[in-house]
Amino acid sequence: VVEISGLRKSFGEREVLKGIDLAVAQGEVVCVIGPSGSGKSTLLRCVNLLEQPTGGAVSVLGVEVTDPDVDIDRVRTHVGMVFQQFNLFPHRTVLENCTMAQRKVLRRGASEAEEVARRNLEQVGLADRADSHPAQLSGGQQQRVAIARALSMDPALMLFDEPTSALDPELVGDVLSVMRDLAEAGMTMIVVTHEMAFAREVADRVVFMDDGQIVEQGSPDHVIGNPGEERTRTFLARVL
Ligand code: ATP
Ligand code: MG
Repeated sequence: VVEISGLRKSFGEREVLKGIDLAVAQGEVVCVIGPSGSGKSTLLRCVNLLEQPTGGAVSVLGVEVTDPDVDIDRVRTHVGMVFQQFNLFPHRTVLENCTMAQRKVLRRGASEAEEVARRNLEQVGLADRADSHPAQLSGGQQQRVAIARALSMDPALMLFDEPTSALDPELVGDVLSVMRDLAEAGMTMIVVTHEMAFAREVADRVVFMDDGQIVEQGSPDHVIGNPGEERTRTFLARVL
């Protein structure tokens, strides 16, 4: 579903991705961990071209997104992205937040879009909040709306960038449990996270990044439970 090879990204003189190779298969859940500034968000953003790579190749759903002629909007239609900040439209209801892109981008009719939105709101446990406005919801509920909104586009791939790190601790669990359900349902996911327990339980593969490189990757039991690299051990000792 995703194939990244030799990916490089510089901001000015500073190279923040230094040759990343990573392949993600259909149905796979890959958790990316690593210290602040190691390039995790930049990596994720290169997948849907929110950042333009300076070298290497990225292919998503069979499309070479690093090809200058790529129709990136078409690719993005199939890639759901959930950020730390929920970015909901504040003046629209929860339901409208989940129907707008369906109507605009997928050209779905009002009743179909609404049906899809309600189904996804139900899946994230917010069926009864369809008519609320984002400000009336907790951070955890807003994040679950953001997930429902992304799912309403029927994505083939979901990217999560620290979806719980802006949340109060007591709200984290509900969001993680929605993500766990999604993983169990077979969604292909790349998740940047500081939640080691989640990564350990849900990931098929854990990727540890440091200083713009993948230092180590493998099963959660290997990378988190019994890492082979000193840098991984140092990082885990700080966060666990
Ligand atoms: P965190 O865990 O804090 O979110 P991260 O691993 O996601 O960190 P990135 O956000 O990918 O790290 O940033 C990697 C490096 O690239 C950092 O040094 C950052 O300052 C730099 N960087 C990121 N975006 C830009 C930008 N638009 N312009 C210049 N430098 C940037
Ligand atoms: Mg980041």
